[in-house]
Amino acid sequence: MNKFSWYEAKSVEDAIQQVNSTVSEQLYESTQDAAIFKSGGVDVFDWIKEGLLKPQKIINIRNIPGLDKISFNTKDGLRIGANVTLAELASNQEVKEKYMALHQAVNHAATPQLRNMSTLGGNIAQRNRCWYFRSAEHHCFRKAGDRCFARHSETGENENHAIIDNGSCVSVHASSISTALMAFNATVMISGEDGKTKKISMDDFFVRAGQDIVMETILKSKEIITEIILPAPGKNTRSAYIKQVARESYDWSLGDVAVVMETSGNTCRSASIVLGAAAPVPFRSGQAEKAMEGKDINAQNAAAAAEAAMSVARPLSKNGYKVPLFKSIIKQAILDIT
Ligand SMILES: Cc1cc2nc3c(=O)[nH]c(=O)nc-3n(C[C@H](O)[C@H](O)[C@H](O)COP(=O)(O)OP(=O)(O)OC[C@H]3O[C@@H](n4cnc5c(N)ncnc54)[C@H](O)[C@@H]3O)c2cc1C
Repeated sequence: MNKFSWYEAKSVEDAIQQVNSTVSEQLYESTQDAAIFKSGGVDVFDWIKEGLLKPQKIINIRNIPGLDKISFNTKDGLRIGANVTLAELASNQEVKEKYMALHQAVNHAATPQLRNMSTLGGNIAQRNRCWYFRSAEHHCFRKAGDRCFARHSETGENENHAIIDNGSCVSVHASSISTALMAFNATVMISGEDGKTKKISMDDFFVRAGQDIVMETILKSKEIITEIILPAPGKNTRSAYIKQVARESYDWSLGDVAVVMETSGNTCRSASIVLGAAAPVPFRSGQAEKAMEGKDINAQNAAAAAEAAMSVARPLSKNGYKVPLFKSIIKQAILDIT
């Protein structure tokens, strides 16, 4: 672990003035004198302890006043400050009553100890968990190397990797909470150097690996997430979330799905269906959404939507099991909506 200095940011503006790089840029370029943000520190210190990230300065944004609030009203919807911890979100009554899929996603993420440390801003900006990307011995595309080790049909350990949109990097995004945030059409508020705040939909916040191998999000170095906002649900909005893991106590997702529906009786008026751990970034399944719209919510239609979602799957050598896994959890989540 390298030596670094520590800076306590006093405000959003102060933090932006101090920072000069993102973790993603550092992992790719390894430039000297990097000053990077740390919130809960769970992901940042993992990289530093591995020796893959050697910042000169850590800017602690965890204690910036005002970024730790959760509020709800029917006009603005649910506003979650970037420094709200996953534990705070998990126990919030408004989230449990109005955003069931988010409540379920947060409660199934990591462990209670990790949820106490982790912030929502850090969660959506964390990097993927591909073991080659996280290994100092493997110089993959995302670390300015010349190959993808996971893709190799014989030697690639790709059990946990992408089955959709895997033409370039085949990692899957680590934030299972983003699956639910995207299904609720959340927006991310980002403050920049010019003092302006931009509002980005979750769909546009993530960057597909084929578009840019360096970044998984659009975040640039002089930008900070301040809030995540979910629109107020309608009277007939219902939702559900399912995450499949290898170990129930805590684990990264093998596959997860969030379903948010506008319903009329037992009919689906419109659907928002997002898959996690299927593609390099959370994947909105337009195929499943279309298959459900205007249809009754029953086992037959839910199974047809799950089939449609998997029509675009192209598994790698060792992750073919994910196709039936997703078919099963998509169908179940549609039938589970409350
Ligand atoms: C064993 C284990 C299991 C886990 N399981 C899950 C899981 O199942 N599902 C899941 O979703 N997560 C899971 N996590 C992730 C974890 O819960 C944290 O959310 C995540 O590691 C980062 O949160 P953090 O607040 O510590 O971020 P940090 O480590 O502080 O930061 C992460 C990244 O975000 C940037 N950043 C932080 N805040 C901001 C901001 N406001 N603006 C701009 N950039 C910012 C940092 O510079 C850094 O690049 C797991 C982690 C571990 C170690």
